[in-house]
Amino acid sequence: MTRVNVMRPWLGDEEVTAVAEAIRSGWVAQGPRVAAFERAFEAAMQAPYAVATSSCTTALHLALAVGGVGAGDDVVVPSFSFIATANAAVYVGARPVFADVDPATGNVTRDTVEAALTPSTRAVVVVDQGGVPVDLDPIRELCDAKGIVVVEDAACGAGSTYKGRPVGATAPISAWSFHPRKIITTGEGGMITTGREEWATRARRLREHAMSVSAADRHASVLAPAEEYGEVGFNYRMTDLQGAMGLVQLGRLPEIVARRRALADVYAKQLADIPGLRPVTDPAWGTGNFQSYWVEVEPEYPLSREALLAHLADAGISARRGIMAAHRQAPYQELTPTSGLPITDRLTDHTLILPLFHELTESDQERVIAALRGPV
Ligand SMILES: *Cc1c(COP(=O)(O)O)cnc(C)c1O
Repeated sequence: MTRVNVMRPWLGDEEVTAVAEAIRSGWVAQGPRVAAFERAFEAAMQAPYAVATSSCTTALHLALAVGGVGAGDDVVVPSFSFIATANAAVYVGARPVFADVDPATGNVTRDTVEAALTPSTRAVVVVDQGGVPVDLDPIRELCDAKGIVVVEDAACGAGSTYKGRPVGATAPISAWSFHPRKIITTGEGGMITTGREEWATRARRLREHAMSVSAADRHASVLAPAEEYGEVGFNYRMTDLQGAMGLVQLGRLPEIVARRRALADVYAKQLADIPGLRPVTDPAWGTGNFQSYWVEVEPEYPLSREALLAHLADAGISARRGIMAAHRQAPYQELTPTSGLPITDRLTDHTLILPLFHELTESDQERVIAALRGPV
């Protein structure tokens, strides 16, 4: 029995060739290929400025730093997210304050954000969880009026749309991931997009030790100008090997999203008559990339979530528990709000992620569906 994996990046000879060319060029650290990837990403995401980073985690750190968030500030974040979303707030010395999410989308809403605001809230990080676009406009209405910076954690969002535009395009600042678990990959890697030139400039400098002259600019002149370091920066650079790969992957994005949406459509149709399995769907305000095809196992289904995972594993199918809840992890347990996070708890305990990736075959998808039907 062959195994059906939950996820597999779509990589081909084009990535191999692009990375080989970067190596042959002799320039392997951040350089012309990273710059080209940034320009291509700006165009694809309709974002005025893109700044490549070593990961989405480091992009989130820089986004909060250039947004002016620091010690003594509160940052509202969903607990229902990969833990890096909350960690980024701690990196700048702020305190994460957890907001609950909507059960249909797994995302924060204007109401859940409002309930979590404190007098010290300086920023709100919204997430396009699993690729489902967050309803950004009502949250911005709430926050812009109070001078609270809205950061979009679009780690999972490449290829998803909000009101007809790429997600992240209308956020003050967004952070993206190119980890292999995401929709396109550079091995590790991330990106910041923003409409504010001064934030882009500062992020560019902070990712490179806060150096006043970039390594690429120093290389361009025979007698390199002396550089200065006006503040404490970081080494959050992407390499040109990753930039070369990112350019190829970005070109594949439309095809990847179309394929994933087609596979998601098959799941949705097939699961419709299985009682007790509620799949994630597009919200009214946009389209998802189905980076994570999650289903909630409801009481009507004959098996619990854990029993269903075991049942799928017996059939050679590798599903995964759904999205984690940061407030249950050691560093954040004490920050659990007194009112609790009931929807976060419910989704974390009762959802699972089904296999869905570009090269998933129809027969493998049929195997997954048959296994889900088995216990009914
Ligand atoms: C994966 C993920 C991250 C972290 O991305 P890295 O590129 O691995 O640092 C952050 N936020 C969310 C919502 C994620 O899914």
